[in-house]
Amino acid sequence: MAKKKKASPGAAPSQTLTSLFALLRVQGASAVRWLDVVDIVVDERVRLKCQIPLCDSYRFNLMCPPHVPSVAEFRSALLRFSGAVLIQITEHLTKPTDNNPSANVFAPAKRLHQLIHLAEKQAFEGGARFATGLIGSCCRLCEECVAVRSGTSCRYPFRARPSMEAMGIDVMATAERAGLPLRFPVVHQVTWTGCVLI
Ligand code: SF4
Repeated sequence: MAKKKKASPGAAPSQTLTSLFALLRVQGASAVRWLDVVDIVVDERVRLKCQIPLCDSYRFNLMCPPHVPSVAEFRSALLRFSGAVLIQITEHLTKPTDNNPSANVFAPAKRLHQLIHLAEKQAFEGGARFATGLIGSCCRLCEECVAVRSGTSCRYPFRARPSMEAMGIDVMATAERAGLPLRFPVVHQVTWTGCVLI
């Protein structure tokens, strides 16, 4: 097992990341952390949970399995990165949720998607040419993904991104290593987590 390191924004490799952190906070991120690549936890059991029990997005969202790279491919590519900017959005829910999450639970996930897109763009323009954004939950840019009915091309190929969990990242373990533990079940507040690999 990889040795646990203390995550800190100071571990960010460049000044670009320092200004990126500030920008993300201004734009609504609840938390931003730098995470070394050894602290990004990949686990094949995460991908297994896309199918057992079967997620309703499996096969019906172009940014979800089986349309995305395998966990083995992702694990191999991940080793080429230095680490990731982990980004969270936390929102209090005016109405507590039960087992049937309503739209207000997923609304912050859409805002996280925008932040990931912004962070990826800023990192790229700052010189991180392989910057790769991963969102939280399945892509919700469209009311209904084209994968549901047609199998045609993505409507927003430059904006759509897969989630951390779709790539096999254990989001709970990874967030914990960043000092940002997640709380379940979602009742009074919801936290969505994404990252940009640098
Ligand atoms: S942008 Fe639309 S079509 Fe593309 S993956 Fe997301 S939901 Fe599907």
